[in-house]
Formats: sequence, structure tokens, C-alpha cells
Amino acid sequence: MKKPLIGMTLAQLKEVVLSLGMPGFSAGQIAKWLYEKRVTDIEEMTNLSKANREKLAAAFCVGRCEPSSAMRSVDGTVKYLFTTADGLAVESVYIPDDDRATLCISSQKGCRMGCRFCMTGKQGFHGNLSAAEIVNQVLSVPESDTLTNVVFMGMGEPMDNFDEVQKVLMIMTEKWGFAWSPKRITVSSIGKLDTLRRLLDETHVHVAISVHSPYHEERLGLMPVEKAYPVREVMKCLRNYDFAHQRRLSVEYIMWNGLNDDDVHAQALVDLLAGTGSRVNLIRFHAIPGVNLKTTDEQRMTAFRDYLNRKGVLATIRRSRGEDIMAACGMLAGKVNKG
Ligand code: SF4
Repeated sequence: MKKPLIGMTLAQLKEVVLSLGMPGFSAGQIAKWLYEKRVTDIEEMTNLSKANREKLAAAFCVGRCEPSSAMRSVDGTVKYLFTTADGLAVESVYIPDDDRATLCISSQKGCRMGCRFCMTGKQGFHGNLSAAEIVNQVLSVPESDTLTNVVFMGMGEPMDNFDEVQKVLMIMTEKWGFAWSPKRITVSSIGKLDTLRRLLDETHVHVAISVHSPYHEERLGLMPVEKAYPVREVMKCLRNYDFAHQRRLSVEYIMWNGLNDDDVHAQALVDLLAGTGSRVNLIRFHAIPGVNLKTTDEQRMTAFRDYLNRKGVLATIRRSRGEDIMAACGMLAGKVNKG
């Protein structure tokens, strides 16, 4: 099988061209074709000689792959299904909102983090996506040219596939790639601190941390990651970074009736986030089969939000999108179709 060129960094493209006896500067030309002009065939790279195009095409392909299906929500959200090389399926969600056009992308096939409230977690882990498979989602949705933002909040824990995610972030932000400002990208994590530290040190993208409870035992019952990386340690680490200027830190907080939605939790959350500069996104829970957790009503969500705002923590209630097509937060399952 031919290797995809998309997903390669400039340094990797350089290795490719040198190994084929092509001049080093061809790497920059190829990057431009892949990430700026967004060609789908090596034959279109017309400033490479015909002989070099043939050499390249003998072992490589561009690697673009259209979504295999699309489901459109009444609210304009579109859920795309991409089939991976090994026949599995991952989802990307396009979310138009006034002047913003956001794509929520997946970084893994399933997930091994086992969060109790998440459909992706329920399906288990079926492997990492390659940088090619991740960047292909951004390049191959029909709205690709009009995207204003990308969020790594789809299937998988991005920090559990750090090396591939980091390559994609380079491709999206470097001059030879998409040349996007890192401010257009948010990477979400449940706080897998080992690689989260690298994301903080090595990139400038916005960061979103899924907290969902300020209490150790309670969070442990929701998110097994709390055992290895307690949220208190995560916040301690985040206090070392500046989120007041160039980059933003947000905390994701799904609200469950009678579990984490009273004022005592709100105060504990205020205390947990002190000194981090984080804002809070309150998220309505979308019921999923076999999970005995109940959605908090609008009135309680509003009261919780107002409590946080009164205490100086900027909080908003995230508008639910794509629930009718199972595209809302925590609902992505990707129907892993083996074979
Ligand atoms: S919430 Fe995120 S980290 Fe947790 S199981 Fe779902 S996809 Fe994985």
C-alpha cells in the first residue's frame, strides 16, 4: 500500500524527497501542494518534474479520503463518518454558528479512558489515528475551506495519541502548512498530565480540560484517569502557565442532576480553579443507553452558572448541538464496523 503524504511534517517530507534523490527544496513545494493548494493527486504537483512525480507516485499517494457518510441535524450541525484504512469508522462534527464554522475532530478509534458518561468510552479502544487520518478530517470535509476553528473534542483522548496530534498541530500552524494562528485551535484533554505538559510547553493552542467534579472520589467514579492524574495536580500544573493573554484555558463541566450540580460543588469548583485563569463551559448531559445519570434542568444550570460568575469565574452554558443526529458532546460512537 502506498504511504500517504498528508500528515507529514516538512522535515518528514524532506526525508522522503532526499530518499528519492529529489532536491531538498521539493519538500517545501510538496507541502504547499498538500496543505495550501490542497491537491488530491500527485499528478497535480506541476512544479515537480514529470520524472519526480512518477518517482513519488510509485511509493506515495496524497492520502485524501472523503467522508463515507454525512448526517445533517435540524440545527445545521453535520456529522461526518470517515472510514479508516483498517475498516473502522471515526466521526467529525461540523458546527456552524453565526460567523464561526468549527470542526470537531477525532484523534483515536474509540478510547481507552473509560469515562462513565461517554459513548466513545463505552466502545473501547481500537487504535490511534495517524496524523494523516486526523488531518484528512480537516482537509476532506466539504466545508474545509470555510472553517474558522478546529477543536480536538471528538472520539479519543488527544493526549493519549500525543505524537500524531502534535504533528497535526504543526501542520495546521506552521507557515509551510495551513499557517493558522494557534488561537483557532483548541485541544481538549481529561488531564493526562504526562503529555499535557508537552502540549503546554511545545504548542500555543488553547486548552480545554474535562473536570466534571471538583472532588477526588466523585471524579474517580466518573473518570478513571483521576487515579493516575488527580485533577488537583492538573490544576497545580496549569497554574504555571499564562492563560490571561495569548492562549485560553477552559474547563468542561457536564452537569448531572443531584450529582455535581449544587452550590457546594460550585464553590468547590471555584476553589479548584483559583489562580488558573480558567473559564468554565457548563454542558448539558445527553442521555446514553445503559448510563444511570440524569440531566440537570435549565434552571439549575443557570443558577450554577450565576454562582460561578458571582465568584469571579467566567462561566457559560454551552448550547447543545446535533443531539438529533447523536453528534453532541459524549455521544460520538463511530459505529466501529470491523472489516
Ligand atoms: S470523555 Fe473523552 S477521554 Fe473520556 S472516554 Fe470519552 S472520548 Fe475518552
